[in-house]
Amino acid sequence: MLSQKEKNEIRRVLEDEYKRLSRTSQNALAYSMNHERNIGRDSIDESMEEEIFSTEMRLHDREKFLLNKVTKQLARLEANEIDVCEECGESISFRRLMARPVTTLCIDCKEQAEREEAAAVQTGRGGLGDTDMGGGDGEKSPAGAED
Ligand SMILES: [Zn+2]
Repeated sequence: MLSQKEKNEIRRVLEDEYKRLSRTSQNALAYSMNHERNIGRDSIDESMEEEIFSTEMRLHDREKFLLNKVTKQLARLEANEIDVCEECGESISFRRLMARPVTTLCIDCKEQAEREEAAAVQTGRGGLGDTDMGGGDGEKSPAGAED
């Protein structure tokens, strides 16, 4: 069980992350709207623009994905279950939550999920999985999920 002070700290981290991701999502959206107005005006740079555009959209998808995770964690925090592993119900340490604020798994289940994820990548299915928000406590992150 987390203390009130610990919960406050995690809430602060999650809310900061929520604000940061909201801003990034809005930027990506503004870019896409701007892009639509410009279609057909400059055919020379079109292929390059398409490339930038698809990169922006991939980023946008990732921000949305992370925003959903942050929102879910805030709900788990309010329900007093942010430190409960979704898989096995064991407690997640405060230290792990601070290092990985969006994690919903204890370290054992996370390692299990990573093994399954690695197997999925090898068979070409992939997926973002339990994406982290940076920082580092020695855990591996899914490929391409880091900033
Ligand atoms: Zn677990």
